[in-house]
Amino acid sequence: MEVRELYRRIVPHASALIQSASHLFWPARCLVCQNSIHPDDEGLCADCWQNLSASVASDYCRRCGRDVSPFGIVDGRCGGCREKNYHFDGVARVGVYESTLRSLILAFKFSEKTELDARLSEMLKQTLVGCGFYEQTDVIVPVPLHWRRKLRRGYNQSYLLAKRVKPADRVVSTDLVRIRNTQQQWDLTPAQRRRNVKGAFAIRKGHPFKGKSVLLIDDISTSGATLNECAKTLKLAGVEKVYTAVLATAFHDE
Ligand SMILES: [Zn+2]
Ligand SMILES: [Zn+2]
Repeated sequence: MEVRELYRRIVPHASALIQSASHLFWPARCLVCQNSIHPDDEGLCADCWQNLSASVASDYCRRCGRDVSPFGIVDGRCGGCREKNYHFDGVARVGVYESTLRSLILAFKFSEKTELDARLSEMLKQTLVGCGFYEQTDVIVPVPLHWRRKLRRGYNQSYLLAKRVKPADRVVSTDLVRIRNTQQQWDLTPAQRRRNVKGAFAIRKGHPFKGKSVLLIDDISTSGATLNECAKTLKLAGVEKVYTAVLATAFHDE
């Protein structure tokens, strides 16, 4: 399905309301490049729509999330993850962390444009439906922020996504917590990332995870270190399967 079409289908009945609300914040300017647009352009100019389509069009490895051609997968593993072991059991991703998708995620994450959560969540949900594990998961778990970072930002972007993508009859659990205020992963090498998040997560007492399948939600995955550490922590608490879903993957320095 064309991305723009997908975007159009977002909350069809509430779309007029959301559009009029979003116009208060973004009066007919492209969300990404600020070019003026027509109110019917749904937030982005033609160039940015085209860039977004390109970012979400590529095939990826369902085991690690890397870009890969379907012919590059052997026994469910791509060249990038063949030698690697993960605690999670699968990845669904909307696209690559670049261009328009990157700008939308950054706006969602740092500019208090939480109105974007409806749009980005719908893209994530469309990715999840049909990925093979969406319906099998019992509990939805956002990758947690440390309480100090959450206090500063005011919200956990992964929690907002989790609430919107969850199937109607499932719950979002916040019983996975971050007990160490880790450094941002972006500027670190893969080895530093693994060290940075090691032991950073814990599970609250009375958690609902034992014997369950969990869907772990994050906005960006850089090399999978955070998802892997979360999955490890969840499995130590008795989780059977950990599937992961992210808006974008970035394997920029491996
Ligand atoms: Zn634009
Ligand atoms: Zn892979």
